[in-house]
Amino acid sequence: MSVRRKLIAGNWKMNGLKAQLGEVSAIAPLAAGRADIDVALFLPATLIAAAAPLAGDVLIGGQDVHQAESGAYTGNVSAAMLVEAGAGGTLVGHSERRAYQCESSADVAAKAARAHGAGLMVVLCVGETLETREEGDDAAHAWVVDQLLASLPEDADPEWLTIAYEPVWAIGTGKVATPPQIAAMHGALRAALVEKLGEAGEAMRLLYGGSVSGDNAADILHLPNVDGALVGGASLTAAKFAPIIAAA
Ligand code: PEP
Repeated sequence: MSVRRKLIAGNWKMNGLKAQLGEVSAIAPLAAGRADIDVALFLPATLIAAAAPLAGDVLIGGQDVHQAESGAYTGNVSAAMLVEAGAGGTLVGHSERRAYQCESSADVAAKAARAHGAGLMVVLCVGETLETREEGDDAAHAWVVDQLLASLPEDADPEWLTIAYEPVWAIGTGKVATPPQIAAMHGALRAALVEKLGEAGEAMRLLYGGSVSGDNAADILHLPNVDGALVGGASLTAAKFAPIIAAA
């Protein structure tokens, strides 16, 4: 199996004003000391331009991008706008956007393709609801694999695309999927990626996200087919993010 470089990524969601930029400055040296892994922070769009010069080796990204190049899409942010602000990547398909902005998997695939076209790396999120998980492991695996395949852009490539498995029931709830649940889901996603993309599917990073913290990161990050973490609440301060980076 190819060695996939681990990625520890933070998602600040709708949190953070300029007063919190000191946290970006404090996270930067944690990444500078770790040439073996990648670190990224997906920030509110309003902070990207101010954060980029402070970030050192930490990739600064947006949390969403519109699928159109430009136009009459009030309130949205284009890929070119993210690039101009200093972003090197973006999230797409986060479950909060799928739920609250009614984004479909086809939208997510189009967003990923647009972001890649502008030169951004992309973390594409997938994950099942509690209702689906309660139907059993096999049902959850089938549902998430289907969502992933429907969300993959045509030219999916590990050079620019990373997948994040985030069970909706584990996001921001303090309920972490168990190591066997994570390993089994990541195994199912890996098999689907290899079937669809061949060697590229083997090389594509698969992150876990959902209540990752300094207390559970080591157990999760050492599981097979777990190539990093997407971290919400525990990425908001350097003090909480540092032990997760250290565990990678
Ligand atoms: C997320 O928002 O992607 C996430 C995983 O959040 P949390 O770590 O807070 O559960």
